[in-house]
Amino acid sequence: MTMLKRTALGLSIAAALGLSTAVFAEEPAAAAHQEMHQEMHKEGHAEAAAEMKGAMPAAAPAHHAAHWSYEGEGGPVNWGKMDEKFTLCESGKQQSPIDISAANVTTLDNIELHYAASPLSVKNNGHTIQVNYAPGSFIKVGETQYDLLQFHFHTPSEESIGGKRYDMVAHFVHKTADGKLGVIGLLLKVGAENAALKAVFDNMPAEADKENAVAGAQVNAAEAMPKDFTYFNFAGSLTTPPCSEGVNWMVLATPAQISQAQLDSFRKLFAMNARPIQPVNGRIVRLAN
Ligand SMILES: [Zn+2]
Repeated sequence: MTMLKRTALGLSIAAALGLSTAVFAEEPAAAAHQEMHQEMHKEGHAEAAAEMKGAMPAAAPAHHAAHWSYEGEGGPVNWGKMDEKFTLCESGKQQSPIDISAANVTTLDNIELHYAASPLSVKNNGHTIQVNYAPGSFIKVGETQYDLLQFHFHTPSEESIGGKRYDMVAHFVHKTADGKLGVIGLLLKVGAENAALKAVFDNMPAEADKENAVAGAQVNAAEAMPKDFTYFNFAGSLTTPPCSEGVNWMVLATPAQISQAQLDSFRKLFAMNARPIQPVNGRIVRLAN
């Protein structure tokens, strides 16, 4: 049966990553898991959807509202105090990133990729390198369609797995027609050169607020993705001010590679742009494929 196969795959991935797991198949697991099972019910889809609706910001994040950064005065511990729009950074209970140290292996909707190539446009927004994506690329998760808006990078990876941060992470930011955000996290570790992202790394503007639209060049986010789409799923937030909650996080269990030179070229511009790990506050991380 498909479900059993999935469960076995999820379990072997969790084991390979050194995570503790609970298995949720059709039959509820034994008493030992009952508590977590109840929490899963609490975290039902309808509630999550309602929560997302209420929590989404009406407008785009206001980058110029305050000079936030990753260190010093403007650093993460002060984000919540810097602007009234940023208060969730301090008071929020479902903040990102989190450490993924345990997962419930269960059945999740597959992520269906419908990405096409986009003209290459690489922006330095002062906080990261962001690749703005042409309209028309999307993912489907169950019945929900999320349109791909942009992807960007953090170093080290913001999400950690079993307490371990990777060299980098790419966040692929999507939005539904009614404004819900869904982010795919692709962990990156140093190894072979990343061919799919080569044009991005080769065209990063050194100056803040500069955008390189490279004539004739294209990027295809699909080529950056691993073949195995097993993912960790949890409710979280934007990891930058205004730290809006109601974001559907999908962190792929399989990392991709970048070369040391690619990592170095990014770190020359942004030595560190990862928000500290945030409390899980009872959230359940689910794992499936
Ligand atoms: Zn990000």
